[in-house]
Amino acid sequence: MLRKICLLLISTAMLDMCVPTLAADPNLTYTDPAAAGPDFQTQGEYVSEHQPKEGKNTRGAQIIALGDGKFHAVVYQGGLPGAGWDKSKTIQAEGQSADGVATFATKDLTAKIQRGVMTLHDTEGKTTHTLKKILRKSPTLAAKPPAEAVVLFDGTTAKAFDGGRMTDDGLLMEGSTSKRKFRDFTLHMEFRTPFKPFARGQHRGNSGFYAQGRYEVQILDSFGLEGVDNECGGIYKVACPSVNMCLPPLSWQTYDVDFTAARFKDGKKVKNATMTVRHNGVEIHKNLEVPFATTAAPVGEGVKPGPIYLQKHGNPVRFRNIWVIPRDSVPKSSKREGRAVWNHSGAGAYPGDWERSMKLLADNGFNMILPNMLWGGLAHYASDVLPRSNAFRKYGDQIERCCAAGRKHGIGVHVWKVHFNLCTAPKDFVEKLRQEGRTQLTVDGKPSNWLCPSHPDNQKLELKSMLEVARKYPVDGLHLDYIRYPGRKACYCDGCRRRFEAQSGRKVSDWPNECFSGKRKEEYNDWRCRQITSLVERISREAKKIRPEIKISAAVFGSYPDCRRSIAQDWPEWIKEGHLDFICPMDYTTDDAVFTSLVRNQTKLVDGRVPLYVGIGATATGIAMTSDRVKGQIHLARSLGANGFTIFNFSPKTASTLIPHLGLNTAEAPNAAPPHGKP
Ligand SMILES: [Zn+2]
Repeated sequence: MLRKICLLLISTAMLDMCVPTLAADPNLTYTDPAAAGPDFQTQGEYVSEHQPKEGKNTRGAQIIALGDGKFHAVVYQGGLPGAGWDKSKTIQAEGQSADGVATFATKDLTAKIQRGVMTLHDTEGKTTHTLKKILRKSPTLAAKPPAEAVVLFDGTTAKAFDGGRMTDDGLLMEGSTSKRKFRDFTLHMEFRTPFKPFARGQHRGNSGFYAQGRYEVQILDSFGLEGVDNECGGIYKVACPSVNMCLPPLSWQTYDVDFTAARFKDGKKVKNATMTVRHNGVEIHKNLEVPFATTAAPVGEGVKPGPIYLQKHGNPVRFRNIWVIPRDSVPKSSKREGRAVWNHSGAGAYPGDWERSMKLLADNGFNMILPNMLWGGLAHYASDVLPRSNAFRKYGDQIERCCAAGRKHGIGVHVWKVHFNLCTAPKDFVEKLRQEGRTQLTVDGKPSNWLCPSHPDNQKLELKSMLEVARKYPVDGLHLDYIRYPGRKACYCDGCRRRFEAQSGRKVSDWPNECFSGKRKEEYNDWRCRQITSLVERISREAKKIRPEIKISAAVFGSYPDCRRSIAQDWPEWIKEGHLDFICPMDYTTDDAVFTSLVRNQTKLVDGRVPLYVGIGATATGIAMTSDRVKGQIHLARSLGANGFTIFNFSPKTASTLIPHLGLNTAEAPNAAPPHGKP
């Protein structure tokens, strides 16, 4: 009897426990979207239609499935996180589905979801917004590894990992540690969290990406959550992501990470590790310092390189397409490499002592210098065309001295001109040109201290000064800079109008609007491009008549075709037409992902026609890169197929803080010859 009661009690207790437990099993896990049920289909991202028209009125919504037909809705003003959301307070509501319709009702929000369409209603039940379900994809999804990348996982084998296991459908499983260890690197990886409708918080698809086995970027199904430091993209106890970019569970997501390891001196840490992290293409951490190894890190902080570790946290998180570009050891330099510095002062790093500047460059593996010797209205040499500068008066003819010291030390001298820009020119010189109608006017009628490129006398002046340099000095080349307009708003002077009308054979009825934003906008921009291109063409042609071996190069904006539209600089055209012997795009950014995408685009545009020496903005405006970061970009440039690099700027400061620390003249990177010259 006693036994019977006991059994009965147990079975009742089991029933009591089992019914709700089965229905709300926090371990219930789906890894296949097709089998994940109707709640999974309702879950996801919604955005209102006609976004541009609605403007700020656009709404985005994230719907989180909580199991058993229960949902949580988060409504964003302006659009979805990372895609328009204005970061104002969200509206949150609980919902329930019945007969294929999910309804949400709180004091703030009434909403309905049916067949992939969400409608928001006001208090009287009127529809205020209609949102459609969308599937966002990371722009870096399926990114191909560049030639120098170490591919850790491409779906064929898990053997690059200790503990590496693969699923039957070719995905890497959590709990993998790369055999190879890394110091500084750029990484791409793709991951997918499972769908666990009844799980909450840290139990909902937990894993993690550990840089060097030390510093974790959280991986978790944090879809629709606030975005704190223990959620997806968070660095536990260090930083929250700047925006929660987590996509719904079972979506493929990306991390693109630039990692710079901590630095040690005599066993003591002197600099923290830093990370820039992009989650699904959006930067969520920028140059973030991570001051300690994060919780549960398998490797403690230290000087040695460390592995890529994908944390095992009891959840079936999946990975694919993982590759790493090590920035510290490979790739090695080639024997043919342009290694240049720009020198903005035109007087070297030690004014009055070109010998010392050139020796420093040669000792440290450089083979070229691009010194700024002339401007639109100033010359640091004995010019008969342009006003001579104070530097000329104080230190003598700078081109002559630079060339002599360059020849002695084997450094090629490519004289850099800042075209059109008169900001350093003597006042009376500028005033005279203004009187003659040779300076620019913006579309708003504001005068500017730039020469108007379409004025024939200005073209002559620009040409004459460059040819004078080619004729008088044994320079290796002429380097064209500011070979462009200041921006989209120039030039709209009377002369430009007359010359445009004459050359196009048609009057402009509504000047300048018709050319700036009206129906002749494209035509006018093409015409602006031709003013610049024709000067490049003439300098190249005429200089080579004087000395056939002279090299013509240009410093250009890195982002094409933007630069064609904004500053009328069509540099791929100059290369195609054979006007240039090498090109130096100014890829000034501390963000290695941006740098990489610029250089990739440029190698495609240049297509091997001329050497590409990418510009690294070590001390460009607003930038102060350490020698490690500059080294990183040199390695990136090499790995991406550039033929060399040009560093901005060679100055008294960088002569001591940067130039001697790049390791360009070592056994690993012996002195090279620039590829634009004869072998
Ligand atoms: Zn003009």
